[in-house]
Amino acid sequence: MNTNTQSIFFLIFAFAFCAIQAQQINPEINSMAEKLESKVIEWRRDFHQNPELSNREFETAKKIAKHLKDLGLEVTENVAKTGVVAILKGNTPGKTVALRADIDALPVTERADVPFKSTVKTTFLDTEVGVSHACGHDTHTAILMGVAEILTKHKDKINGTVKFIFQPAEEGPPPGEEGGAKLMIKEGVLKNPDVDAIFGLHINSGTEVGKIRYKPGGTMAAVERFVINVKGKQTHGSAPWTGVDPVLISAKIIDGLQTIISRESPLVKEAAVITVGKITSGVRFNIIPESAEMIGTVRTLDPKMRELIIRRMNEMVPSIAKAYGGDATIEFQNNTSITYNDPALVKQMLPTIEGIAGKENVILSKATTGGEDFSYFQEVVPGFYFFLGGKSKGTEKAAAHHTPDFYIDESGLLLGVKVMSQLTLDYLNAQ
Ligand SMILES: [Zn+2]
Ligand SMILES: [Zn+2]
Repeated sequence: MNTNTQSIFFLIFAFAFCAIQAQQINPEINSMAEKLESKVIEWRRDFHQNPELSNREFETAKKIAKHLKDLGLEVTENVAKTGVVAILKGNTPGKTVALRADIDALPVTERADVPFKSTVKTTFLDTEVGVSHACGHDTHTAILMGVAEILTKHKDKINGTVKFIFQPAEEGPPPGEEGGAKLMIKEGVLKNPDVDAIFGLHINSGTEVGKIRYKPGGTMAAVERFVINVKGKQTHGSAPWTGVDPVLISAKIIDGLQTIISRESPLVKEAAVITVGKITSGVRFNIIPESAEMIGTVRTLDPKMRELIIRRMNEMVPSIAKAYGGDATIEFQNNTSITYNDPALVKQMLPTIEGIAGKENVILSKATTGGEDFSYFQEVVPGFYFFLGGKSKGTEKAAAHHTPDFYIDESGLLLGVKVMSQLTLDYLNAQ
């Protein structure tokens, strides 16, 4: 190997090494985040003890807005009812990055044994319920408030603009109301200045503190709710041939729908689910009823599979009913889209996350069939949504999200603050 070839090899090696090397955290950001940790935890406990349901986050929003105004940011309140949006302009003009935290709690009575346990009660759909942050959105809110403080103090080193989006009603607005990411987008949250990329995280009760899980492409499912109405012809239970049985037709439809998953969906690509969760029909044993209603959900992770499954359900439901002499209609309502992580953005930003968390702590994960309304932002702009560990080290089992024993180890929050701050800087300064 001559000297020339050697130096070419060296250059190639050096370039390849640089390309995959983890980015280190800015030491200033690191120390600011560490100093701010106790404050972030304090905010989180306050939100935890005073949880508010979707579209009712009035006090939560006031506290967020006060903090952002105190930082001197341009703040807009009442976006999508109770949302708060703040804009931070950096030293030089450039791209705009949005950071999103959801702020709502759930109708779940907390059972976790913590001194800042929620004892809040309210009325939800005419029932008295306990309210708690059983999905951990209190941690997201506190983390993003911390990030806002750090980036504001660091603004002379920022090229471009940061938009902080504190989003209400991620869990879904109450029936009959609009809300969440969809309404924020409708009200123009991704415009003026136009957002180039968006980042978001979700704390995870089952992932150990210090670890981050991510997946490029579909990471959480599109959630569709459907209602099927089957019409038959009522008759005496002893003489079915004199009527049309909607219960039997419902059974055939359920059977048929499952073959869309098992026989028609390319399951090696991504998972997909059709579930019928509720069937209502009939009043007594010897009457074949007039009609039946079925309610269910579809979960998909790939846009093409989503299209195929919905199209086939629309075709199959009325034809099966027809084959047995009845009629059936199906209607869909979309609850979330596919939480789709832009592969190029993931590739670009991964070294930042690996540099802060340590490569061994950043885990490429499988998709989940749960839904997340961050997906709507990702339909408009490239986005990256990942999961932050909130399970105490050495703990075997963790309570699931949305359950009374849901618990988050607060020592996991600091990593979220560091990662979100540095992702923003690296994205904006890479232009
Ligand atoms: Zn949730
Ligand atoms: Zn959540």
